[in-house]
Amino acid sequence: MELPYAEPYKIKVVEPLYRSTREQREQWIAEAGYNLFNLRSDQVFVDLLTDSGTGAMSHHQWSEIMLGDESYAGSLSYYKMKDVINTLFGMPYFVPTHQGRAAENVLFSALIKEGDVVPGNSHFDTTKGHIEFRRANAIDCTIDEASDTTLYHPFKGNIDLQKLEDVFKTYPKEQIPLCIITVTCNTSGGQPVSMQNIREVSELCKKYDIPVFFDAARFAENAYFIRIREEGYAGKDIREIVKEMYSHVDGATMSSKKDAIVNIGGFLACRDKEVFEKIRMYCILYEGYLTYGGLAGRDLAAVAQGLMDGTEFDYLEARIAQVAYLGNKLKEHGIPCQEPFGGHAIFVDAKKFLPNVPKEEYQAQTLAIELYLEGGVRGVEIGTLLADRDPKTRENRYPALELLRLAIPRRVYTNNHMDYVAACLGNIYQKRDQITKGYRIVNEVPIMRHFTVELEKA
Ligand SMILES: *Cc1c(COP(=O)(O)O)cnc(C)c1O
Repeated sequence: MELPYAEPYKIKVVEPLYRSTREQREQWIAEAGYNLFNLRSDQVFVDLLTDSGTGAMSHHQWSEIMLGDESYAGSLSYYKMKDVINTLFGMPYFVPTHQGRAAENVLFSALIKEGDVVPGNSHFDTTKGHIEFRRANAIDCTIDEASDTTLYHPFKGNIDLQKLEDVFKTYPKEQIPLCIITVTCNTSGGQPVSMQNIREVSELCKKYDIPVFFDAARFAENAYFIRIREEGYAGKDIREIVKEMYSHVDGATMSSKKDAIVNIGGFLACRDKEVFEKIRMYCILYEGYLTYGGLAGRDLAAVAQGLMDGTEFDYLEARIAQVAYLGNKLKEHGIPCQEPFGGHAIFVDAKKFLPNVPKEEYQAQTLAIELYLEGGVRGVEIGTLLADRDPKTRENRYPALELLRLAIPRRVYTNNHMDYVAACLGNIYQKRDQITKGYRIVNEVPIMRHFTVELEKA
């Protein structure tokens, strides 16, 4: 018999979780304005709000924390990070930043001006926020297959080359400062981009002389999917695949809170000295001196180690298998999910789950609230609230997909927790016909409203 996978680590430290009653949760969620971001963490039993900064560090990483060099300039921890970034990605230049969005802020300050357009595959919310804040436009060129949750496609994060070339033909080069490939593509369901697509997008960008950058938060999970799904990569070392992915791009913004498995951190890496010279000033202005970029030395050291931990095949296999374990449990209950399952999360199709709730009353948010009430499980809406309003018309933008995302923190929960979550959603699925009403907005801000929006029952 072929032996099954098992987590390539054991547990050294545990943290208690708190259970609650439905009555308590009804009161807490009402007090939170029906926004799950407003809950206290001890009001949540299984927290699948995000996989960002919520991972468990290894004892190697904790050792690096102790070894952190807190020198203002020239910290040895910075040089550890520089070595790893150069080895893994072949990028000689980088600046640390305090998070992924800070790397976006630094890069976009140097590159994007009012009226520009930035094509890519379903830009992440902070990425889109930083583009729109500069009065530029993010243009989504994701393949159409991505918006059909039941259709099988191994690389639903791919960019449609025709859509991308249309952008290049419609706008002058001066108005297209860069193209962004998000690996894996969070917004379309944690879906990977194939090496072939990365290569072809890169060639097209070269032809039109447009720089191409990764939004690289989950680059290692993307490399894992290339290894198991793309022809020619079976059995290939993850780090070799990573190196090849990065060989096609000019640089990358990174949220280290994802695939570098740290609680805080980010960076911006690039190949070109000229680009580095443009971004340096903004790093110093917004983040801090070039060798710490808004982080402590110990944080840089933990990132360097985390990048190595996060590119181990056995770790990635167990991680992605746990996500699929939850997905398969939900399928056993008949619950509609984005398939194939993504790398970091399961995305439940809320339009199909709650067809009786009108889209104007936020179907995915309604499902997220139901799940919290049922079992104290916190997921997050990836739908109309997240999509914000159109900057010109101020109308709600209704995205093609209305999803409840269950993001799984790295190395944190066991499969028993996954069974628990599946049972909660299974119970709601049984009574879905009785759920006919959603929520109304009572208070919101113009950009990235989903973090702070307040709602009431419709
Ligand atoms: C998390 C994330 C970001 C932003 O990073 P933060 O560290 O949260 O600021 C950008 N892009 C993608 C794809 C992400 O997942």
